[in-house]
Amino acid sequence: MRANCWQGKKKMQVEQVPDPKLINSQDCIVKITSTAICGSDLHLYNGFVPTMEEGDIVGHEFMGEVVETGREVKNLKVGDRVVVPFPISCGKCFFCTQGMFSLCENSNPNAWLAEKMWGHSPAGLFGYSHLLGGFAGGQAEYARVPFADVGPIKIENGFTDEQVLFLSDIFPTGYMAAEACDIKPGDTIAVWGCGPVGQFAMKSAFMLGAERVIGIDRFPERLRMAREKVGAETLNYEDVDVLEALHEMTGGVGPDACIDSAGMEAHAPGLLGAYDRVKQALMLETDRPIALRQAMVAVRNGGILSIAGVYGGMLDKLPFGSVMNRSITIKTGQTHVQRYLKPLMQRIENGEIDPSFVVTHTMSLDQAPHAYQMFNDKQDECIKVVLKP
Ligand SMILES: [Zn+2]
Ligand SMILES: [Zn+2]
Repeated sequence: MRANCWQGKKKMQVEQVPDPKLINSQDCIVKITSTAICGSDLHLYNGFVPTMEEGDIVGHEFMGEVVETGREVKNLKVGDRVVVPFPISCGKCFFCTQGMFSLCENSNPNAWLAEKMWGHSPAGLFGYSHLLGGFAGGQAEYARVPFADVGPIKIENGFTDEQVLFLSDIFPTGYMAAEACDIKPGDTIAVWGCGPVGQFAMKSAFMLGAERVIGIDRFPERLRMAREKVGAETLNYEDVDVLEALHEMTGGVGPDACIDSAGMEAHAPGLLGAYDRVKQALMLETDRPIALRQAMVAVRNGGILSIAGVYGGMLDKLPFGSVMNRSITIKTGQTHVQRYLKPLMQRIENGEIDPSFVVTHTMSLDQAPHAYQMFNDKQDECIKVVLKP
């Protein structure tokens, strides 16, 4: 089959690789009809995620048709149309039974590596480094899906791929970030990063009852999407002082909750941004937490800071005194996608949201290297790319 393979920093290549095979009796094989490039794939592309190896198949947002099932698979049969969540979860361990699927303790065969880096290992993920299991990803013609009875959701309602594909990651990820804000009527929520996850976080904040949502970014096309498709107010941080603007917009109080959906490669002008870029380049700091720092300071006293953006390791110069003294609650985590599949599918069916609004580009899998470069460099107003194998 053909698959998009990581070959080093800024180097993706579509290659001919062996077809995946069933390994365990609970696996299935999915023939992929649509797959997407995620903002977090750019961290792989830019070489910020350790334990990637040349030839690794990337991609963790995919859907398709079941073409083979292991003998213990009960819920799926050949021909079923499914969306596959990005965390791989057994459904039976302590964490899975508590609904914390991205912390499954049975799905990362390289748990020892993650334990070395983080103390304990989270779940294995599709296409996201050997640290997180070394599983082949879904930017390919086929993928092996372990624990097939636990992850994939069957699509039986005739929606297009683009309307349901993002249940695999970014819709639940944005939703979980908004849910963590414990939104009450009248609340104002500020969101750093108006990429696809930020768009879903903003949309979800409204669905959960927020009165005002403020999106922060610097790309006009993303800010426009936030205003026109989501109904958010927007701030361009290259034009305004974000902290001052938020202060003013909230009567000096600050947003009730702040969401960081920018993550470890956040961009910042000025001295602090340069400091982070230099330290990150020298590997003295693994992440550039610029959005996070701002969100920490901006949130109102006693408010909630919800972090959806991906971080990998060590963060520098975080204003933790502000967090402690002002009683800020921090919530974060890789998304427990399986928990949200059915409720969010229900919201799609109810017509509360059509997730396809984020798609700006549809390309063939063979164009993946170009798509990465375009998405990374924000060319052609690229916000979300769907690839067709
Ligand atoms: Zn993703
Ligand atoms: Zn588990």
